[in-house]
Amino acid sequence: MFCSKCGAENDNNAVYCQKCGTNLKEKEHNNEIKDEKLKQAQMEYYADQKKKKESEEKNAMGMAIVFIILVVIIALFIFLV
Ligand SMILES: [Zn+2]
Repeated sequence: MFCSKCGAENDNNAVYCQKCGTNLKEKEHNNEIKDEKLKQAQMEYYADQKKKKESEEKNAMGMAIVFIILVVIIALFIFLV
């Protein structure tokens, strides 16, 4: 494998670059972490979307309840008058 920093050729199993000492395994590891973080961010995004949808449904239900209460009040008013 080649060093990502100085381009020197190193053994495939080398952890550090023989020329500049850059950690050759660190980049792979970072990519894994990045992937993990990306996955987590995606999961959070979907969870957020789900929550948004749920709260919208709740709002719609709340509006329906308010509407029903209003209708009942108007009906009672008409009945009393
Ligand atoms: Zn190097």
